[in-house]
Amino acid sequence: MTYIKTDETILLERSKRYVYRIFLMRQTGTILCFLSIASVLHYLNSPFFVYILLGINAFCWPVVAYFYAKTTIDTVKTTNLSLVVDAALGGFWVALMAVSPFPALIMIAILISDRYAAGGWEVLKPSLVAMSVTFLAVWMALGFPLNLSFDAEMVWFSLPLATVYIMSLSMLTRNLAVQLISKNREFERIALMDPRLHIPNRRLFEQRLSSTFIQTQRNGTHAHLMLLDIDDFKHINDTYGHEAGDYFLAEISSILRHMIGPKDTPARFGGDELAIIVVDHTNDEILMLAQNISESIKKIRLQSAEQFFASISIGIASVETATTVSEWFGLADKALYYVKRNGRDGIQIY
Ligand code: GH3
Ligand code: MG
Repeated sequence: MTYIKTDETILLERSKRYVYRIFLMRQTGTILCFLSIASVLHYLNSPFFVYILLGINAFCWPVVAYFYAKTTIDTVKTTNLSLVVDAALGGFWVALMAVSPFPALIMIAILISDRYAAGGWEVLKPSLVAMSVTFLAVWMALGFPLNLSFDAEMVWFSLPLATVYIMSLSMLTRNLAVQLISKNREFERIALMDPRLHIPNRRLFEQRLSSTFIQTQRNGTHAHLMLLDIDDFKHINDTYGHEAGDYFLAEISSILRHMIGPKDTPARFGGDELAIIVVDHTNDEILMLAQNISESIKKIRLQSAEQFFASISIGIASVETATTVSEWFGLADKALYYVKRNGRDGIQIY
């Protein structure tokens, strides 16, 4: 049994990944901040309970925020809210560090860039407000302490925050960018392929036809356009059912994929209209290929109806006979029309 992911499952997985990503970054950040802030607290001779508060913030808060976000319905919203709480806590610690510029500026810069990376201006704006409010309130309550010294120990203990965290953030951003690129490629591929026949659709076919035409003009190479149209397909649908029609189309597509060369392009550009752009073939070789395809298609049988038999009409035009892409297509179409008018089940090269 195939498990098909619903939109809801995909969204849930995505938000779970987001919450976990934020947890990892927050945990890395709080551990690094712990070192930096603790060195300042040591320099300022802060009381022991402040270290305890710092320990709770560094080691308990990320875990609590992570599990709490997981229990809520809107995990992304809760996580974004916890990012604002982070910023408020940042303001608190800047005030407690008496605005020591070296660690304080690094912390503020990281908090700002992190919030912006996670949720853009929407998350950054309330974060800046929360950080400023808590900073001003705590700083005022402490009597505006100011420590402008660059103590060596303080600088050393702040260096991991200034280096490791920024590297982690860039690694994470890079990973996300790579994932985004591969998703975009997948979407592009889906948008250009026929979902049931697994061959290019009309959009990709037209692109390939133009590029092949330009290439042949530039390099003087050979190319043929082969148009294939199932004979009396409407009758097949009416007699054997639409599902049998679908099966027949899929079998034809499989034959085309297996019989053409790696440089050739099979495509479906309409209901029962298929095409192949074949490169580097002489007229004799292309006729032979068309003949083989036509014979293979005639051998397709339906499990439900042994007597099933269907044929195909093929029109071919060599690129040399045309001066534009649309003329090339038009000539192949004319050849196909000729076969249809003359009793179907045949091959015509323009
Ligand atoms: P002709 O020999 O002149 O080509 O006759 P025809 O019946 O094949 O041509 P017509 O254009 O009248 O009908 C094409 C039919 O193809 C009509 C439509 O129902 C059927 N068709 C188009 N797409 C699909 C599909 O994806 N699956 C199935 N089963 N039928 C399809
Ligand atoms: Mg047809």
